[in-house]
Amino acid sequence: MKYMFKWRLWVIVFLSTLGFIVKFIGGYLYCSKALFVDALTNIANIIALVATVYYYLKAYIPPDSDHHFGHYRLGFAGTLITIIIYAFIAGVVVCDLLHVREYTVKQEAPILALLGLLLYSSVVYLSRTVSEYLTVYGLFTVSEVLESIIVIVASALGYLYTYIIDYVGATIIALYILYELQHHLKYIIKLLSDIAPPVKLVNSVRMTVEKYGVKVKRIRLRLVKNGLYQGDIVVSFPPNTTVKEAHEISNMIERELKDKYNVDVVVHIEP
Ligand SMILES: [Zn+2]
Repeated sequence: MKYMFKWRLWVIVFLSTLGFIVKFIGGYLYCSKALFVDALTNIANIIALVATVYYYLKAYIPPDSDHHFGHYRLGFAGTLITIIIYAFIAGVVVCDLLHVREYTVKQEAPILALLGLLLYSSVVYLSRTVSEYLTVYGLFTVSEVLESIIVIVASALGYLYTYIIDYVGATIIALYILYELQHHLKYIIKLLSDIAPPVKLVNSVRMTVEKYGVKVKRIRLRLVKNGLYQGDIVVSFPPNTTVKEAHEISNMIERELKDKYNVDVVVHIEP
């Protein structure tokens, strides 16, 4: 792992933890439910971040005796943990929102919310510079900043007018947690379903194979992780091909598909 990446990652974890603490204090001590719920989504985010990066790196371990196809699918563990932690937070939040009594939002709440936003904006900015690791998984997105802005407005108006506005803000953030949950669920269900590549890629694979003068009888490809496919292809060679020739051509096909499309296949030869 790149040293710079590690360094920035820890800064991100540190700043978002700080953001969480600030928001939690504002939410809990200064009685803004909106800020409290926002703080909980932040802690979920931090745990999800650490889990995602941890398993993302594990996924690159080469095949070994207990994982013959490589460790790519360990990458899903990050998403699974994200789902579990978000579901837990959703439960806590729903419970909190249901048991509501009239409350008074204190002046400090919107101020701490603003501080939280500043911290979080720097986290979002930093995570962009770490690039693909974090943005691919959409862990730190602009929506996080939007969330913070909603909370500032809700808690400020809650302080100035009525707690109900703050409560509505909390409900909006809670609904967003549910949205995030179903989004992550959809993503992982799709990836775990052995989904085939887009038809266009299958056709390109077929054309690449046919270029070698063989007949394609069957193609089976499945997504292993984003951008990587595994499968098998059944082909038949012209009658006068020797076993040696057929074997060499099969090897060439396998290599070309790997280099060109990141498709790992075994070519099975039929007469
Ligand atoms: Zn292993």
